[in-house]
Amino acid sequence: MFERKVPVPIMLNRIDVPIMVKIIDVIQETDNVKTFTLDISLNAKPGQFVNIWLPGIDEKPFSVAEDNGKTLKITFFAIGEFTKKLFACNVGDKIGIRGPYGRAYSWKPNSTLALIAGGYGAAPMYFLAQKAVETNCIIYFIVGAKSKNHLLYLNTISSLPKTFLHIATDDGSMGHKGYNTEVLEKILQKHHIHQVFGCGPEMMLYSVFNLCKKYKTEGQLSMERYMKCGFGVCGQCVMDNTGERVCMEGAVMTTQQLSCIEEFGKYHRDKEGLKKPF
Ligand SMILES: Cc1cc2nc3c(=O)[nH]c(=O)nc-3n(C[C@H](O)[C@H](O)[C@H](O)COP(=O)(O)OP(=O)(O)OC[C@H]3O[C@@H](n4cnc5c(N)ncnc54)[C@H](O)[C@@H]3O)c2cc1C
Repeated sequence: MFERKVPVPIMLNRIDVPIMVKIIDVIQETDNVKTFTLDISLNAKPGQFVNIWLPGIDEKPFSVAEDNGKTLKITFFAIGEFTKKLFACNVGDKIGIRGPYGRAYSWKPNSTLALIAGGYGAAPMYFLAQKAVETNCIIYFIVGAKSKNHLLYLNTISSLPKTFLHIATDDGSMGHKGYNTEVLEKILQKHHIHQVFGCGPEMMLYSVFNLCKKYKTEGQLSMERYMKCGFGVCGQCVMDNTGERVCMEGAVMTTQQLSCIEEFGKYHRDKEGLKKPF
């Protein structure tokens, strides 16, 4: 496997040329979801992402699921060519990593927060919850999935202090039957929530955005667009029509920012730049 022999340039406290790091632990979360613990810390903050490189295959962005100053975790779905190859990696294998990139979530200490997650979003949201409870926040954490077998991070979230876990499944096999945004709305009606944070599929985020407007609550949502460089140069992840780059002015965007972005909740672009409606 490729080993870099030259010193790695470190700019702005981030690594822009991939370094090969060892996978030191693997957790199989579900049939097609794994969490890797990597033998590196990039001092990443909740909401930031890293680019993972498989030499000769491709490089893709992944949200940081935890960075404890010694190791870094990512949680990913095996859905396409790249992630299926990544899924096949084991403890002891080396993969490339660079970053951390993007804006992090920012929260007010001593406040009450609602965190809503769909898909792999439970992982970065857990990282946020872990840090927010350290600053005396109370958390309402809502996790949603198709069915109970697809729910992620339930045990780790349940182990956090000052955190109330709510579950929603499409088929009702666990928790509320229906969308996790329906649970969020009930929480917004019942409790005084200072900030809402979301990570998950865009149509879920669009509903969260509308709820934030309806209940006049500040929101921060993690956007996903096809991206290449990760540091604002290639223009691949520019959004219509403000020109904001998801890798730089995101991936965490405020609901105020998103209210000016026309493509939000409507379409994204594939790797050729063609519009793909949601
Ligand atoms: C900032 C950022 C953070 C990300 N964090 C994570 C993360 O923490 N964990 C993670 O698993 N992925 C994450 N992604 C997505 C990841 O980068 C890949 O795009 C994704 O894993 C698919 O890669 P692939 O090459 O295997 O599949 P591709 O070949 O790109 O796609 C295979 C098929 O799956 C579809 N597809 C692609 N992405 C998704 C999706 N998200 N949901 C449903 N269908 C999809 C494609 O349209 C295609 O039909 C993140 C993306 C961004 C921009």
